[in-house]
Amino acid sequence: MNTRSIATVSLSGTLDEKLRAIAAAGFEEVEIFEADLLSFGGSPRDVSDLCGELNLKICAFQPFRDFEGMPEPQRSRNFARAERKFALMRELRTDLMLVCSNISPASLGGIDRAAADFRELGDLAASHGVKVGYEALAWGAHVNDHRDAWEIVRRADHPAIGVILDSFHTLAPGFPVNSIASIPADKIFLVQLADAPKLGLDVLSWSRHFRCFPGQGDLPVVQFMEAVQAAGYRGPWSLEIFNDQFRAGSAVRTATDGLRSLILLQDQLAGLPDKKLQPKAPTLGTGFIEFAVNEVKSADLSTLLSQLGFRKSGAHRSKQVERWSQGSIDLVVNCEPDGFAHSHYVTHGAGVCAIALDVGNAKQAMARAEALQARTFYQPVGPGELEISAIHGVGGSLLYFLDDAGNNWDTDFAPLPGDSTRDRLSTVDHISQSMPYDEMLSWLLFYTGILDLRRLPGMEIADPVGLVQSQALTAPNASLRMVLNGSSATRTLSNRFISEFFGSGVQHIAFGCDDIFAAVAEMRQRGALFLRIPDNYYDDVDAKYGLDPALMSALRDNQILYDRDGDGDGDGEFFQIYTHAFDDRFFFEIVERRNYQGFGAPNAGIRLAAQAREARPVSMPRV
Ligand code: MG
Ligand code: MG
Repeated sequence: MNTRSIATVSLSGTLDEKLRAIAAAGFEEVEIFEADLLSFGGSPRDVSDLCGELNLKICAFQPFRDFEGMPEPQRSRNFARAERKFALMRELRTDLMLVCSNISPASLGGIDRAAADFRELGDLAASHGVKVGYEALAWGAHVNDHRDAWEIVRRADHPAIGVILDSFHTLAPGFPVNSIASIPADKIFLVQLADAPKLGLDVLSWSRHFRCFPGQGDLPVVQFMEAVQAAGYRGPWSLEIFNDQFRAGSAVRTATDGLRSLILLQDQLAGLPDKKLQPKAPTLGTGFIEFAVNEVKSADLSTLLSQLGFRKSGAHRSKQVERWSQGSIDLVVNCEPDGFAHSHYVTHGAGVCAIALDVGNAKQAMARAEALQARTFYQPVGPGELEISAIHGVGGSLLYFLDDAGNNWDTDFAPLPGDSTRDRLSTVDHISQSMPYDEMLSWLLFYTGILDLRRLPGMEIADPVGLVQSQALTAPNASLRMVLNGSSATRTLSNRFISEFFGSGVQHIAFGCDDIFAAVAEMRQRGALFLRIPDNYYDDVDAKYGLDPALMSALRDNQILYDRDGDGDGDGEFFQIYTHAFDDRFFFEIVERRNYQGFGAPNAGIRLAAQAREARPVSMPRV
């Protein structure tokens, strides 16, 4: 089994904080980044001792820059500089130095010149009992391809000189990975791993700011690792991530995400022995959504749910908990004075405290989640009540896994009579969750690692005061759709939701129906009010799509938003409407899809602006 490692540059904090977070997450090895060492108060030996206490092996010291192919006098100075670093490495008790390919304009090309330099460096390294690994930077002046780096190492022909492979430098420029399989395993001194989203950036800026963990980006890291495995490499898998969000976020969370990404990668590689995870949980839909409220809010929420056509369908046999139903949708309203929902209410205010997913086999889903280091949750249950498997999710909420939702309701709830024949809403169409932008990649890996969800292309949505990043995840059978919204500008609405919730959480829930006009008419009759959309919007829709005048005025009169996708022939249509925010915390959306795959992204900015207009100014006291 390969050991798991991470470079200290990947995390925020001081060197000792980074090392503690890395060890706590479960890594066995670490690469010490020189800048982290230089800014650290203790000596290299102190760092080595701390790593010893934490059971972390230092697999490399890096980087050593601008070494090969230099003219004199720089060449001699480089050897003197290397010798100083070899002495430092002895203090650190590590035996591998990473040399990245030269980017200096003063450097001279030539494979044989570089090979001669490395042969000489190999002698020097060997006399200090250490080794040197050579890594091709994608922006190296003369060497930017791992195939050239390997040729230099091959010609250097020195036992203390090997090659270091980095998935970003190979995959970002699109170099073929099959050449890796023919490098002798004992000449691959280290393998570094990073993914990245597809961006139209120069490779240097792309690498310095947007690297991410395997599985969070778009590069074929699995193929890269298959070639590495084929070569017979058995050394550490070392994450090396330069990412602004990671360096601004929590070191503990980043380290945990990093380990999770390696577990997932290991799981995806064919031919690796044991340690296989349970398969990804199939998502079969939303079993129920649970709201934490107090008694006053519970009455307000009941009013709103009734207006939307929900029926109170069950009363908990022993707790102040109600079940509300419509179509296949089940909502649970919890105003118990203690327990998890209550503490969620106290901390975050009225809102969604749990999402229950139908996953087929809850035990399997829990086993996979636990193997991926999700935090499990257990709450004592009353006599005769069902225990539900749960893990901690976004913003202190819970994610329940249900085997076969629906069949078990009567165990905990006394059913109430009701007429379901007039239900207009049929399904939970999507659940939208807000979070600080630096947590988005973390939750992305969480959801896609545990559940069988696909990423749709990320989007940027203009909020009146900033940009919101939006990432949709959908189940292959479309039974579950999640939208993750991250915002870094502090004043965006999405961020206001976050700061007022004291964390992240469900921002809105969209319910699907077959006839939005009929559904909304009935809701209005029951007293429901919806978000006001400006007339200008409808003029624009009219100009863009030239809809039938009757449809156009129905949209305008009802304040329903409209979107289209497909090839322009109108083969996908989308209708959506929003309630006002409940207690300034969350809102509901009603949607009708006609062969439409998206989420009405072109309308999101209109909706956010409308909400901003009616939102209570943050600084004003609540009345
Ligand atoms: Mg690297
Ligand atoms: Mg939506």
